[in-house]
Amino acid sequence: MSNCPRVAILGLHLEANVFAPVSTEADFRASCYLESQAILEEAAKPAPMTPAEIPGFVEEMNAGGDWEPVPILVTGVEPGGPADHAFFERTLARMAELLRAAGPVDAVYLSNHGAMTTTESTDPDGAYYAMAREIVGPDAPVVATIDLHANISDRMVEATNAIIAYRTNPHVDQRERAAEAARVIRKLLGGEQLAKCFIRMPIVAPSVRLLTAAGPYADLITYGQTQVSDDLPIVSIVGGFAWSDTPENGLAILTYGRTAAIAEGLAQDIAQRAWADRACYQVLLTPLDEVVAMAKAAGADTQARPVCFADVADNPGGGGRGNTTDLLKGLLAAKVDRALLGLFVDAAAAEICHAAGAGAEVSLTLNRGSTRADATECAVEAKVLALSDGFIVGRRGIMAGRTINLGKAAAIQVGGLAIVLASRRIQAADPAFFEAFGLEPGAFQTVFLKSRGHFRAGFDIFFEPDQIIEADARGLTNPMLERFDFKHLPRPVYPLDQDTEWRPGH
Ligand SMILES: [Zn+2]
Repeated sequence: MSNCPRVAILGLHLEANVFAPVSTEADFRASCYLESQAILEEAAKPAPMTPAEIPGFVEEMNAGGDWEPVPILVTGVEPGGPADHAFFERTLARMAELLRAAGPVDAVYLSNHGAMTTTESTDPDGAYYAMAREIVGPDAPVVATIDLHANISDRMVEATNAIIAYRTNPHVDQRERAAEAARVIRKLLGGEQLAKCFIRMPIVAPSVRLLTAAGPYADLITYGQTQVSDDLPIVSIVGGFAWSDTPENGLAILTYGRTAAIAEGLAQDIAQRAWADRACYQVLLTPLDEVVAMAKAAGADTQARPVCFADVADNPGGGGRGNTTDLLKGLLAAKVDRALLGLFVDAAAAEICHAAGAGAEVSLTLNRGSTRADATECAVEAKVLALSDGFIVGRRGIMAGRTINLGKAAAIQVGGLAIVLASRRIQAADPAFFEAFGLEPGAFQTVFLKSRGHFRAGFDIFFEPDQIIEADARGLTNPMLERFDFKHLPRPVYPLDQDTEWRPGH
């Protein structure tokens, strides 16, 4: 290795929900698809569209001394259905072509979500990692960062020197984990060796039970970090993503230490703690009729404490379409007042609002032409409150400082309900998505967010945890896993199979 290491940068991000429509090449390209120098140029912008890891990694490498970034290819898309396999194959081939053409590199950084599937494969992330390892050979450090909703395959573990997972949910440490990867790469380039231990548990938890502020998963993450030392520098504990439906699903523990025995000792310890607390991964949601009744009461009494309802079953951040109507129709039928709802994804309706202009009265049929049982047509008389081209800079939580593209967007008023319509599927994780239209979330009695949990880091200034209710409505990300027809999950698995057994050492 020279004094100025050449480090390749690659990125591939999709959290795949197999029950959602296919994620196409057009979807990826509309979100983020960058090659070579364009990666560094985008990452250097004040509010880049790349995953937050890329600027985080570059900044820390810059801080650590001389290096030569070798940007290859970075692509990613909002959570959605499996990637079109032909597009995945083309992308992987293009990555390999660019990486080979770049000449010898000293190390590789892989930015990755880790829960991708394609229309033909349950482990494309493993193929991505193996491609990088094959090209750079057995000696160059290869380090990946992943979401804590990753499903980890043996191939991913074998192809890398280290995999570093987010430790926060909502995910506010993406940059920090990428910076950690940069420091690990520097150490590995300096000759440090890491032994690893990987344990996958028969626990597939719904994402609403994988928060890191409190609860069993939070306890595991916190405990793991208290055990970090010079002898055991990396502890990754991922909860996984149930709706990817792969044989690699399962809460997983990855430890890296000076010796295999040190790594394994802690991994087994954490695994036993995870198993002992497994009952906490079961879910109870609030039924729809109770939700509507609570909203009706809160809306009628301005002295009542405001309530935030999470439409966890229709989270675009987990592959949901952002247009289910159980809650919307319930609120409209009950004539709920002083309520705010978003983001409701309907490009055609947003277009009509733009054509009519701010202040106009419009007749809209939301979900026009839809044949989905959970997202039916919904005719409303609306007033257009405000319009936006949809490019909004996040201000708080996981999207803070990033430019998010909602597509053409509009705020409308339907009776006592204000709604923000978007054209692209984005989860309502940031108050800026409402404030950009002059709608202050804190001014409403009830706020309905199509988000599973990431909204908690954006709306914490308006709602204490005990003011947040998880609603039970239909949708592609409903946390009641028994309602889905999984085909590839390892079975038995807890909590789907209550009689699942696991013993230490396995
Ligand atoms: Zn995640």
